Amino acid sequence: MTSTETDFLSGVRGSVLHRGDEGLPGEVAGFQAADPHRPDVVVGALDADDVVAAVRHAAAHDLPVAVTATGHGHTSGLARGVVVTTGRMRGVRVDPASRTARVEAGARSADLVAAAAEHGLAPVSGSFPGVGVVGYTLGGGLGLLGREFGWASDRLRAVEIVTADGVLRRVGAGDELFAALRGGRPAVGVVTAMSVDLVPVGAVVGGGLFLDAADADEILPVVRRLGVGAPDSLSLSVGVIPIPDLEAVPAPIRGRTVLHVRLVDTDGAAARAAEAALRAASPVLLGGLRELPWTESGSIFAEPEVPHAYEGTNLLVSSLSDTALGAVVAAARSASVGCVVDVRRLGGALSRPADGADAVSFREAGWIVRVLSTTDGVPEAETRAAHTAVLAPLDDVRLGRMAGFVYGAAPVEADELYTPAVRSLLARVREAVDPRRMFAG
Ligand SMILES: Cc1cc2nc3c(=O)[nH]c(=O)nc-3n(C[C@H](O)[C@H](O)[C@H](O)COP(=O)(O)OP(=O)(O)OC[C@H]3O[C@@H](n4cnc5c(N)ncnc54)[C@H](O)[C@@H]3O)c2cc1C
Repeated sequence: MTSTETDFLSGVRGSVLHRGDEGLPGEVAGFQAADPHRPDVVVGALDADDVVAAVRHAAAHDLPVAVTATGHGHTSGLARGVVVTTGRMRGVRVDPASRTARVEAGARSADLVAAAAEHGLAPVSGSFPGVGVVGYTLGGGLGLLGREFGWASDRLRAVEIVTADGVLRRVGAGDELFAALRGGRPAVGVVTAMSVDLVPVGAVVGGGLFLDAADADEILPVVRRLGVGAPDSLSLSVGVIPIPDLEAVPAPIRGRTVLHVRLVDTDGAAARAAEAALRAASPVLLGGLRELPWTESGSIFAEPEVPHAYEGTNLLVSSLSDTALGAVVAAARSASVGCVVDVRRLGGALSRPADGADAVSFREAGWIVRVLSTTDGVPEAETRAAHTAVLAPLDDVRLGRMAGFVYGAAPVEADELYTPAVRSLLARVREAVDPRRMFAG
C-alpha cells in the first residue's frame, strides 16, 4: 500500500478490499453474473465521505472508477482501478408534507416503496423490487405507472454526487449536470443520494395473466388494441416467456411458452375491461387481476430473483402493427437460443416533456420492445444474432434504444441511445466534470 493510498483510504468507515483479498469477488458480485469487476481496490462505502475518499484515491493514482449498487445493470467488468459499492447506503427518508423522499445510493426499489407506503405515497417505481433506485432513475426509469406519472427521472428533484475532482456537490434544476443525470446516465461521478417526488398512490388494480403462446394470433391483436386505446391510468405489457418444465413451476404453465400480459391501473375499470377482452380471446392458464397495495407491485411481473448471466437489448419504436408484433413473437419462439420478449406500451405522460431540461430521449416512442436471454454456455454471437432477428421486423419504426434496458455486453452505439441534443449535453457535461474520463460508463 502506498502512502497516498493510506492517506485517502485509511479513514474509510466501510470496507476496503484489495486485489487478492478473499472477500473481493463477493463484494462486487451482483444480479448480473457475467464479466464481474476485477479491480485493484473496492471501497464498500458507508457514507458520502467514503465515496469522496475512493474517488480522491483514484484521481491521485489516475485510476478508472466504476460504481455498483445491485448489479442489475452491470455491463462490462473493470479490469483495474477502483470500484465503489453502495450496497451499505440504503437509507430512505420520506417527507410526507412535501411528498418527497431522500434516497441513499444503495437503496433498492423495495426500500423506497415500503417507506413511501407508510404515508400513502409511492415512487414511480419499475417492475422489480430489487433494482437500485439510483441506477434506475439515472437511466430514465420506466415505471409501472409511467403512462400516468411519466419517467422516474421526471420526478427527480436534486442529486448529491461526488465528481471526478473528489468534491461532493448537490445539483438541481438549472444545472446542466442535473439535466444530464435525468435519464442520461452520464458516467461522471458517484451519486451518493437523490431526492425524488412521490405520488399519491396506495393501491392499484393489477396483475399478470398467463395465456398460451400457441394462441398468439388471437391474443396479440387484442393486446395491441388495448394498448393503443388505453387511458393514461392503465399501463400494459406482454411478455413472451418459455417456462421451464420444472416441478416448482405451477402445472398449468409448466413447460409451455406463455404470453404474460401485465395490467396496472390506478383507476381499475380499464384494467378490468382489458382482462375481460383477453379472457374472451383465449383461456387464461393462470393469474388474474386483484386490488393490491403498491408494496406488492413486484408481484405483477413476478420476475425471478436468482442472479445469473444475461444479455439483452431493446428498440423504442414509434408504432407497432399487428404484423410486426406477430413477427417479433414468432422470431423469438423459433430462435435457436431461449429468448424472453417484453413489449411495453409507452405514451401518455411518458411522451410529454419533462418539467425542465433533461436527457430522456425518444419520448415520442409508442412502445418499447425488449429481448433478453440467459448467456451461460451460449456462444455470444448466437445470442446476438437471435436478438437481431427478433427485433428485425421493427426496422422501419425504430427510433433508438433505452440504455437502462441494454443488458450485459450487448453492443450499442451512442447515437442509438440519445438524440443529438442529448448527446451534446452529455459531451459538455463530461468535458466540464470528468475531463480525464475517470468514470467507466
Ligand atoms: C429484473 C430487472 C427488472 C428491471 N425492471 C426495470 C423497469 O421496470 N424499468 C426500468 O426502467 N428499468 C428496469 N430495469 C433496468 C434497471 O433500471 C437498470 O439495469 C439499472 O441500471 C439498474 O440499476 P442498479 O443500481 O440496480 O444496477 P447496478 O448494476 O448496480 O448499476 C447499474 C449502473 O447504474 C449506474 N449507477 C448505479 N449506482 C450509481 C451511483 N450511485 N452513482 C452513479 N452511477 C450509478 C452505473 O452506471 C452502474 O453501472 C430492470 C432490470 C432488471 C435486471
